[in-house]
Formats: sequence, structure tokens, C-alpha cells
Amino acid sequence: MTSHEKAAELRRALERRGIRDERVLDVIERVPRDWFVPENERPLAFVDTALAIECGQTISQPYIVALMTESLELDGTERVLEVGTGSGYQSAILAELCREVVTVERHESLSDAAREIHARLGYCNIEYWVGDGTLGCPDRAPFDGILVTAAAPSIPEPLVEQLRLGGRMIVPVGDEVDQNLLRVARTNGSPTIETLCSCRFVKLIGAAGWPESRSDSGE
Ligand code: SAM
Repeated sequence: MTSHEKAAELRRALERRGIRDERVLDVIERVPRDWFVPENERPLAFVDTALAIECGQTISQPYIVALMTESLELDGTERVLEVGTGSGYQSAILAELCREVVTVERHESLSDAAREIHARLGYCNIEYWVGDGTLGCPDRAPFDGILVTAAAPSIPEPLVEQLRLGGRMIVPVGDEVDQNLLRVARTNGSPTIETLCSCRFVKLIGAAGWPESRSDSGE
């Protein structure tokens, strides 16, 4: 089977799981996920599963990428913050569907590798920051949408503050093993919070996340 056929198959699998937004499905089918995974994982690049990447991290499962993206309800005009660049796959999906992506990663080597792949694929609407994404990116706030692609112990307050009124944040919140994927919408009063599904992400490490332990240094 060619990569194109495998990507079309993945699209059908996501449709069967309930992803409805045609623009999200089109982009998942078009963005070459095999470019974002290590060589030894390439045979599984179009399977609906998370895979290991460098620094002890993961590229998220395509279904979760699609669900998180769909849940932002993008119309193409937005500036979106992604916390956790990782492989750069989710940033590429966002870059196809919004005006500008600001992506923050704590591992410089992952950020650099993602930037290189994006350059080869021709993306020019992604901005890269290296540091603690639990603090957001105050220089570029407010954001119309925020995607947190690592698991937080609680909703990171600095990120809520960097959402514009009416903006949405998708964030996995729970313990170190199991979390709920939440959609948090900023309103004039308290944010509204909705649970989308249960999920399992690597830890969000930082001032408004989990403290770093010896095994988390990852380099
Ligand atoms: N979005 C990624 C992709 O498409 O490959 C998946 C990322 S992986 C599940 C989570 C990423 O979050 C890891 O690369 C990890 O280093 C990063 N991370 C964890 N805590 C972070 C923090 N405080 N700031 C920025 N990145 C963080």
C-alpha cells in the first residue's frame, strides 16, 4: 500500500471514530505523518496510535490530534498557541487550518527538528519558542485557541489568562497516568469547562504543570 493509500485509510478510521469536520479530515489525509516519526516507527506512521519520538516523548495518536483540532472550531483567521511542539505534527495540522501558530517546547532539540521538517514542507506561519509552555507566551497573547499536548495536574491558570474572550483551550487534565481531555472556554465570568473524552498523555512539566523529576530530563 502507498503512503497516500495508508493516509486515506487513516482518514476513514477517524471518520468511523466520529471525526466529522471535513477540513480536519482533509488535512490529516494530506499532512505526511511519516515525516514526523523516527525511521524505525515509519511502518506505523498511518496507524491510529501514538508513537515514540526523541527525548522520551510521543507523537500523539491521530484520533486525538483530530479531536483536539476539531474541538477548537477553527475558521482560518485565528492565532493558536500549541504547548508541546514534540514532533511538530500537530503544529503542521494547525498551520493548515488557522492564520498563525505559536508553538512552545521545553526540549530545544525537538523544537529544532520540528522547525526543519516544517521548512521542508513549506510552512511559514509557525513561530517557535523554547521554554516552559505552562506559562504560555505572554509576548504573543491573547490567543484565539490554545492546545496543550501534554497532561496537566490542573488547568494551567496562565494559559486561561492568555485566551481571548470567547477563545477555547483544549487540555488533558488528570494524574500522571489517566486524564480527561477538557475544553475550556473563556467567558466574562468563570471559564466554562466541558469533558471531551478520557485520554493518556505524557506529563506537562513546568511552573503550572508537574515538577520535573530525574527521569523527565529526556535529553
Ligand atoms: N504535539 C506533539 C506532536 O504533534 O508530536 C505531541 C507532543 S508530546 C505528546 C508532548 C510534548 O510536550 C513533549 O514534546 C514534551 O517535551 C512537551 N512538554 C512537556 N511539558 C512542556 C512545557 N512545560 N512546555 C513546553 N513543552 C512541554
